[in-house]
Amino acid sequence: MLTVEEARAAVLERIRPLGAERVALTGALGRVLAADVAAPYDNPPHDNSAMDGFAVRFADVAAATEESPAALPVIEDIPAGRVPEHRLEAGQASRIMTGAPVPPGCDTVIRVEDTRDHGDRVDILVPAEEGANIRRRGEDMREGEPLIRAGAEFGSGEVGVLAAVQQSFVAVGRRPTVAVLSSGDELVEIDQVRGPGQIVNSNTPALGAVARACGAEPVLLPTVADDEAAIRASVETALTCDFVVSSGGVSVGEYDYVKKVLDDLGAEEVLWRVAMKPGKPLFFCMLRGKPYFGLPGNPVSSLMSFLQFVGPAVRKAAGHPPERWPLPESTALMEHDVANDGDRRNFLRARLRLDGGGRLTASTSHRAQGSHILTSMLGANGIVVLDPDQAAAAGDPVTVQIIGAVA
Ligand code: AMP
Ligand code: MG
Repeated sequence: MLTVEEARAAVLERIRPLGAERVALTGALGRVLAADVAAPYDNPPHDNSAMDGFAVRFADVAAATEESPAALPVIEDIPAGRVPEHRLEAGQASRIMTGAPVPPGCDTVIRVEDTRDHGDRVDILVPAEEGANIRRRGEDMREGEPLIRAGAEFGSGEVGVLAAVQQSFVAVGRRPTVAVLSSGDELVEIDQVRGPGQIVNSNTPALGAVARACGAEPVLLPTVADDEAAIRASVETALTCDFVVSSGGVSVGEYDYVKKVLDDLGAEEVLWRVAMKPGKPLFFCMLRGKPYFGLPGNPVSSLMSFLQFVGPAVRKAAGHPPERWPLPESTALMEHDVANDGDRRNFLRARLRLDGGGRLTASTSHRAQGSHILTSMLGANGIVVLDPDQAAAAGDPVTVQIIGAVA
């Protein structure tokens, strides 16, 4: 059986980035920048005031005190968005607002709190320092300077910076569409009446959600019966997407037809079964050039397999650099003893926390850990990864994968 690393490498080897598309900047959050961006001009575009106050020449106010202020005539008002009309000569001041360009001749801005405003003149009470309260042209970005490199993920900062350089459209990696299909005679759709022996198809919505969280565009297909022809028709539809993810029907049960259908369709089998718990019965093949993931039907197994294999593939396809393909890992201290048996690597759903000392801790005790215990995923922001037979006691460091925000 392949290890998780071997299986992930075998999957990723077959994934190609999907290339770039142009999207509106306002919709770019979470996307991957496809080309380097350099600053097209200096920003700020002009020396400007950092304060509401008075533009002055430092020499005129250097000796100013509360008792003996420097009294200067005010020659103009410069609100933000207006270009100064007058050069500041010796012995003059201009009233200036935050963000307004400083007038030529001005070398210092005195904040309004350090002045007494008399309308056509002003008393400067404190000299400040020469050059104070002026934000220099190009301080934020210099024309030609590389700002953001291809491969960067859009956060609010990236959106803001590209807005500042007037990029209303940006080239980003295309996000893969992922067809999600679940098969099983026992399944009913979320809004259907459950008959005897039937359960609700929870995998399709859950896999759609995790696909979206990984940066893919999920396409949820109707539930399919354990029937070769029906599975085949659904797979044909699914192949219009970039990736196909199915759940169920890949075990060794009598009604597990998915692998047979894929064989018949000429799939190139890449791997079958991974040494992990949950999630052993993973099937991965290439079908007409598309990656096809046959995930186990058990709800926790399917989510865990998605996180370990499909998520990294989605991120590679969407243009993320290699260091962002696998889930981020760290070390956490177990909050309690945890038993572990078996010969496969164990992935336990966990709650990660930062304790008072800023140390990462992990707890898996909130729910049972069976692969059918979907509630074990509730609130899970991490996964404790234990090697075969590696038990851990309270306080022991363990490897964790981070799948959600940690607080
Ligand atoms: P299978 O992989 O088809 O043998 O299914 C394994 C287990 O997962 C069975 O208990 C199924 O009832 C359950 N299961 C399969 N598919 C789903 C699904 N889409 N939603 C919820 N449970 C499922
Ligand atoms: Mg089944």
